[in-house]
Amino acid sequence: MQPSHRDTIAAIATAPGAGGIGIVRLSGPGSRDIGERICGRPLAARRAHHVRFHDADDEVLDDGIALFFPGPASYTGEDVVELQGHGGVAVLRALLGRCLELGARHARPGEFSERAFLEGRLDLAQAEAVADLIAAGDIRAARAARRTLEGDFSRRIDAIAEGLLAVRVHVEAAIDFADESLETLGGDGLRRRLVHLRIDLDQLMLEAERGRRLRDGLHAVIVGPPNAGKSSLLNALAGVDRAIVTDVAGTTRDLLQEVVRVDGVELTLVDTAGLRDGGDSIEREGMRRARSELDRADLAIIVLDARDVTGGTSVIADSIAGVPARLWLHNKIDLTDGEAAAVADGGTDRHLAVSALTGQGLEEVRKALAALAGGAPSSTEGSFTARTRHVDALRRSAVELAQAARHLELESLDLAAEALRAAHDTLGEITGVVRADDLLGSIFSSFCIGK
Ligand code: GDP
Repeated sequence: MQPSHRDTIAAIATAPGAGGIGIVRLSGPGSRDIGERICGRPLAARRAHHVRFHDADDEVLDDGIALFFPGPASYTGEDVVELQGHGGVAVLRALLGRCLELGARHARPGEFSERAFLEGRLDLAQAEAVADLIAAGDIRAARAARRTLEGDFSRRIDAIAEGLLAVRVHVEAAIDFADESLETLGGDGLRRRLVHLRIDLDQLMLEAERGRRLRDGLHAVIVGPPNAGKSSLLNALAGVDRAIVTDVAGTTRDLLQEVVRVDGVELTLVDTAGLRDGGDSIEREGMRRARSELDRADLAIIVLDARDVTGGTSVIADSIAGVPARLWLHNKIDLTDGEAAAVADGGTDRHLAVSALTGQGLEEVRKALAALAGGAPSSTEGSFTARTRHVDALRRSAVELAQAARHLELESLDLAAEALRAAHDTLGEITGVVRADDLLGSIFSSFCIGK
């Protein structure tokens, strides 16, 4: 998507529906002229003017406030005009219609932010944070998106990119002195800098992963043998009768998704077909889908019948091996003497005794989920939001950096230079220094109109 910078775009920037105030926004070289014709008076820069908005026949459409922000110190970097009228659908449509009559084009979703990016007002990660700030469901995610928008994440990336560039320059220079050994060309210092860059990159990756969870919520998958009480627990946590609860083994054949808010963080609980060997073809399909959910899960919640904790556990152990964290719920403790599930927590595994039926232990489950999803509000202080795309790029960059270090050890300078270039370019994808047009298209088209 390559917008022409010659045209002027317009859109209703406020949410659809009735509201006290509604805003039509214009950006581009014709904005001021269109705004002045609608308002019937000149618009001074950065002043609030109380005006009447006129249609083609000079009839008054509405009255309100007009603002003119000359480029480049505007949101998009171009001349921007905001017409703030009453927030009724008819008024705003008429106002927008008048802008289009006077030569503006209807903006595509995200086109204002895309222009801000193309004009260098925001980098790509910051532009994405605009959408994340708007979509944030709770104040922690909103604050974290704000930090990304202010450049906290981008500055960290730029610092690593700068360090990488210096290492690249050094390696490229060493290639030109092929007769000399790497040691005489400062190879030791080079290796040390690479190690430091890897440490910085790993640290940033951890923080970006936390930022991704703040934005996307934790993806938790419920698994366990048939009849252990997975559906009942999902319902108890979700607070609605969502999953079908029955006492016939193997009834939950489909994946049922329920999004639960725990301490302001969204957890997607996916109740899956009981993991076990055998079953008919529909059941096997359910199991296949369960396994593919587990592949992208941040957390596995394993539900076991507290009276029979060994039932089906070998199948489960196989399928959850790659999931980063595990919460074991020993369910139906109302049917035990309370001694069951005395299993110690260890590493990334937590064990809790619960009863989906009586609600016993569910508060502890909620607390454990909140802790896993990002911890107490204080622990998200200073965090920024990130997207899967960013975490993925950081990971790829780290792999290239590790390759570069190996090539340097073997004194394969050409290969090291190539890996360093790839690591550097991959970081550039995050902030948009290196970019593909289809990537821009897919990012900005997910924005709302008028943003
Ligand atoms: P799933 O196959 O793992 O999804 O298991 P369900 O949630 O369908 O539960 C199987 C049976 O166990 C149902 O009859 C539930 O009512 C019962 N059940 C689930 N949780 C508990 C519990 O904590 N205590 C008792 N007594 N029964 C439970």
